[in-house]
Amino acid sequence: MSNSEKINLLNLSLDGLKDFFAEIGEKPFRGIQVLKWIHQYGVDDFDEMTNVSKSLREKLKEIAIISGPEVVSQQLSDDGTVKWALKLESGQAIETVFIPEKNRGTLCVSSQIGCVVDCNFCSTGSQGFNRNLELSEIIGQVWHAMKYFGAAKLTGNRTISNVVFMGMGEPLLNFDPVVGAMNLLLDDNAYGLSKRRVTLSTSGIVPALDKLLDHTDVALALSLHAPNDTLRNQMVPINKKYPIKVLLNSVKKYLDRSAAARKVTVEYVMIEGLNDGENEARELVQILKDIPNKINLIPFNTFPGNSFKTSSQKSMKAFEQILQSSGMIVTTRRARGDDIDAACGQLAGKVNDRTNRMERKVKKAIKVTDIS
Ligand code: SAH
Ligand code: SF4
Repeated sequence: MSNSEKINLLNLSLDGLKDFFAEIGEKPFRGIQVLKWIHQYGVDDFDEMTNVSKSLREKLKEIAIISGPEVVSQQLSDDGTVKWALKLESGQAIETVFIPEKNRGTLCVSSQIGCVVDCNFCSTGSQGFNRNLELSEIIGQVWHAMKYFGAAKLTGNRTISNVVFMGMGEPLLNFDPVVGAMNLLLDDNAYGLSKRRVTLSTSGIVPALDKLLDHTDVALALSLHAPNDTLRNQMVPINKKYPIKVLLNSVKKYLDRSAAARKVTVEYVMIEGLNDGENEARELVQILKDIPNKINLIPFNTFPGNSFKTSSQKSMKAFEQILQSSGMIVTTRRARGDDIDAACGQLAGKVNDRTNRMERKVKKAIKVTDIS
């Protein structure tokens, strides 16, 4: 069997792996052993799985592989941030960023190549949509970073303590692979992260958010960016389909049922003269008053071909003051990895140029109401 015909075990969810071992006539605990080797020790060679019998290893070698994305570049920032471009088998590249902080290390992963939501301030959105990432390509980002830093089981250090789905793409528009990856992150036989340390960030795909807790339970970040529908329709076009009231209602239901998310992190990109006025701050206080939240103000990060400017320090302070004086918890995100363009909304990867142009044409023809 050639490698391309073999099953990639990195592409299997927990249930998928159990089914796979059942189908080849092996006991479920064998699946758990292999799961640990892959995700806890970063092993991709069956011969290194020393507690797996030789005959099973031979069988696995014949029908399966463990194959993650290939690293094409790695950039290190002065502040310790690391950005990788990872090449996929289909030829495109995606970007993954590791951000070290005092008490944690956060890995920011991508879920799609490009994004169909097309927010007018986002580099990923401006590239158009190419395709969904497979489970192996999503968990492969964590797998690669874990191997780079050394698996916690081997080093005793859990360098990657948090994973956020804030890279390229809209995670709720690639539901099954994203849920599969999150469940591997949470599983004690794989990455074993606590629910509160895995965060899904969404622009607000309401039907998918409504069913998320039936499949997994993680912390939630909401890319709100505007306090009223008129402004949000311009900035985050999916708002025309799921307006703020409907969206916040769905978020509230999520918080009521979730064990991981007691508050929603509201992301608000600060763009000069667009959404950063005192009126917007007051409106924001009003619309969020019944929803447990913390606000994350994100200075707009520029990228080529975009004419927006980041808010001035003065507007940011005034905005923050209004929120704080009404009792809200506000943090202003520091730009990390500035020197390597690793900040939010700057992850571009390399979407195949020709396909990209075609996708853009197609996208123009798709109305936002067609996105489900
Ligand atoms: N699609 C998801 C997750 C990826 S975007 C979402 O929109 O939530 C991750 C975060 O980066 C979002 O809050 C997004 O709005 C923000 N972002 C996008 N472009 C940005 C930019 N140019 N400057 C600052 N933040 C940006
Ligand atoms: Fe897509 Fe998020 Fe960028 Fe909007 S901000 S275009 S939803 S990746």
